[in-house]
Amino acid sequence: MPIKLTLQSTSQESNILGLSRDDLFSLVSDFETQPKRASMRVNQLWSWIYCYGMSSFDNMTNLDKDLRSKLQKVFNISRPAIEKKEVSNDGTIKYLFRLNDQSKIETVFIPEEKRSTLCISSQVGCTLNCSFCHTGTQKLVRNLSSQEIVGQVIAVYDDLGLWEKKRVNSSNSSCFEIITNIVFMGMGEPLLNYEEVKKACSILMDNKGLDFSRRRITLSTAGIVPKIKLAHEEIRCMIAISLHATENKTRDILVPINKKWNLEQLLGSLRDDIKLRNSERVTFEYVMLDGINDTKEDAHRLVRLLQGLPSKINLIPFNNWTGSQYKRSSLDRINAFRDIIIKSRLPSPIRKPRGEDIMAACGQLKSNSVKEEASI
Ligand code: SAH
Repeated sequence: MPIKLTLQSTSQESNILGLSRDDLFSLVSDFETQPKRASMRVNQLWSWIYCYGMSSFDNMTNLDKDLRSKLQKVFNISRPAIEKKEVSNDGTIKYLFRLNDQSKIETVFIPEEKRSTLCISSQVGCTLNCSFCHTGTQKLVRNLSSQEIVGQVIAVYDDLGLWEKKRVNSSNSSCFEIITNIVFMGMGEPLLNYEEVKKACSILMDNKGLDFSRRRITLSTAGIVPKIKLAHEEIRCMIAISLHATENKTRDILVPINKKWNLEQLLGSLRDDIKLRNSERVTFEYVMLDGINDTKEDAHRLVRLLQGLPSKINLIPFNNWTGSQYKRSSLDRINAFRDIIIKSRLPSPIRKPRGEDIMAACGQLKSNSVKEEASI
């Protein structure tokens, strides 16, 4: 349902970033009573915000001055503030953003040869307590609004100067100059913040704006089973499942949400509810933990579990963090595991850890600032 934001009811400035087109329409209708004109205004605003990256109404030259100044008085288009930016020696960039309530979140830009991925957060912290994940040790947890989710993308576009390159001709730009993919693999469980993530995705996918295709957005989940089907039908982006174990007794420890929805329920739902299109596969993530889930028996069990389900298994070498009880499996062990999976004709790339020197790799995110502030 569109929210009603009116000039009358808004005494403070409020941010229009992350509003749906319906929300914006409702807002603009206060100034433009004719629906046709209001919808033209929405298109204009949308283009300024999501194609030109405008952070103020001043230079929106096709809106008349009076309207601009009215908008400027009441609304803003502000982004999360960059509290800290670290650049890894492999080119990965980790941003620590400060939100309006002073909470901190992290976002990671990962340039590669043929693509560049922005890894975004969906929550401050995470409630799932996966035993190998650093984010789970952070105390403070809350959902992010769609504004804060989209805001991460916009703020990185600003910081890296990507707006013009995006508009001019993204096919000619190198991957260091554009963002090709977005993954919800930062802090938080996106499917526990379903509505805001859905709204954010519709903005990211809008083809008159940021224009990320559904195949270039991946939502990673620890397995919130009822929401997987919904996300597949409604959001329609790619979904990756954090599997990490082949037996319930191990998965209960690694990914405790397994006690609520176990392997049989998770895989049953993927088989029954996900309608894959031609050549599409379900992506699984499998973190390689020394002596925990990395034996040849595990690999064979994994192949059996996934029988009949078109799958791709990303093997993620464990990324260490201080205080963790786990160790990364040796490369030999990872390769042996992979060979078994590949023999059964399932693609099984080994993910190259990125940004480890700045603690930006998968599962290493945690607003260190929370710790720093607490220790002052
Ligand atoms: N909550 C979501 C998304 C965030 S985590 C999920 O569970 O999928 C993104 C991915 O990083 C998940 O597959 C997660 O299991 C993995 N991960 C977490 N900690 C890790 C670590 N220390 N090393 C490697 N991968 C890790």
